[in-house]
Amino acid sequence: MKNPGFNFQSTYTELPNIFFSKVKPSIVEKPNLIIFNQELSDELKLNFLGINSQDKASFFSGNLVLPNMKTFSQAYSGHQFGHFTNLGDGRAIMLGEHIISNDKRVDIQLKGAGLTPYSRQGDGKAALGPMLREYIVSEAMHYLKIPTTRSLSVVKTGEKVYREFPMEGAMLTRVASSHIRVGTFQFALITQNLKNLENLINYTINRHYPYIKNSKQKYFDLLKILVKKQVELIAHWMRVGFIHGVMNTDNMTLSGETIDYGPCAFLDDYKGSKVFSSIDFQGRYSFENQPLMAKWNLARLAETFLPLMQDDIDKNKKKAEKIIQSFSELFNKKWLNMMRNKLGLLKEKKEDQKLILDLLKLMESNSDDYTNTFNDLSDFNNLNKTQYQSFNFKDWIARWKKRRDEENLSIEKSFLLMKKNNPYIIPRNHNIEMIIDEANKDNFTPLYEMHKILKNPYERTEKAEKFTLQPRENEKVLKTFCGT
Ligand code: AMP
Ligand code: MG
Repeated sequence: MKNPGFNFQSTYTELPNIFFSKVKPSIVEKPNLIIFNQELSDELKLNFLGINSQDKASFFSGNLVLPNMKTFSQAYSGHQFGHFTNLGDGRAIMLGEHIISNDKRVDIQLKGAGLTPYSRQGDGKAALGPMLREYIVSEAMHYLKIPTTRSLSVVKTGEKVYREFPMEGAMLTRVASSHIRVGTFQFALITQNLKNLENLINYTINRHYPYIKNSKQKYFDLLKILVKKQVELIAHWMRVGFIHGVMNTDNMTLSGETIDYGPCAFLDDYKGSKVFSSIDFQGRYSFENQPLMAKWNLARLAETFLPLMQDDIDKNKKKAEKIIQSFSELFNKKWLNMMRNKLGLLKEKKEDQKLILDLLKLMESNSDDYTNTFNDLSDFNNLNKTQYQSFNFKDWIARWKKRRDEENLSIEKSFLLMKKNNPYIIPRNHNIEMIIDEANKDNFTPLYEMHKILKNPYERTEKAEKFTLQPRENEKVLKTFCGT
């Protein structure tokens, strides 16, 4: 196969050997390309024209390795549901860093590519359902304008993978601005070699934040940047009703992108304490706990920086703590402004917090749909629906209208602001399940249809309308499972 334009480097493998293992993807039986992201391929300046589908499938299943590819897997650790473990890419293999332009480098990684030294008890493989879920949700997040890894393709391997029952095997090609995780730093820390930590931190700064490279305070600067990135990311998640499901430290990137779509889900009816993950028994990663968990993860990251700050340990520790503590205030401010925007408000008024919390309380007690309620509010005609006729809701609407009148903003502009911040379409869990069920029966039409619709999540089109429907009682997804 001719090279479709990949310009690979593997600067990550210039880190000390302990950070990675050279691994080749396993050969799979009968690769078959299910979905390919043409738009992303164009953005990556790749050109697959003239490459037949068999070669394409061979490439995206790791059967065909180009001459300049030095494939490897990454080592990392992580706190999983609060417990520290050594992990690593147990089922992912990096094809390399593709250089798009002078200042743009992305990791191209195969997920489900076979055994690696980090596979532990696993088989290194992935099933079709979870790979399609990651493809759909990561692409949806991108078009919702939320920092995220992306998906270039899904290939069916033609092999069975054995979970609770035999399933179709698959592989996803993930594109990420890097795969450096909080867990990568935790891994460096437990090697008990300061050089490893120093190498990793410098590599991260060079790759993502070169503008702080020469700062005398670069560790603190990095921490501040990461706090800000996570504040923004989690506020975005809460804007669209996204629940990540497994915010373990190995699933938080230093780039600020959402990563590792496992048992993730979107809220239908609003419930702050909502959990979908089948293994999250204590609600650790519930919808409303996400900011707290991001802060907790950042504290684990800060701990790994401390050994590098040897002079005046106490003073540095206090300084790092202060940066981590700033998360709460920054987040509250960000969240309030984000929710204001969802309600067409720009000014910062003290009473807004109560107005917002009262709406959430109402939605929760009425089991109102998070996405649809905000959409309804941006068109007064919708407020005739019976859902909004209760005394409490009418009262709230009157308060909100009064508050809105205090803006120096026309009603049209307010509605426009709302439409920009409230998606019309989210990948609803029952739709994703239906797509996966059909894909398992070799019908990919619903997958392609949804992929297309999700590209314009803020547009109210007739075609998109059916994706705004809440699940019927028998369609409700109550639990989601880790994506292996
Ligand atoms: P995740 O839930 O995808 O964040 O994965 C958590 C850890 O389990 C990571 O170290 C993965 O590489 C590993 N893992 C997940 N699935 C498999 C599998 N099928 N085989 C080997 N390792 C796996
Ligand atoms: Mg992970």
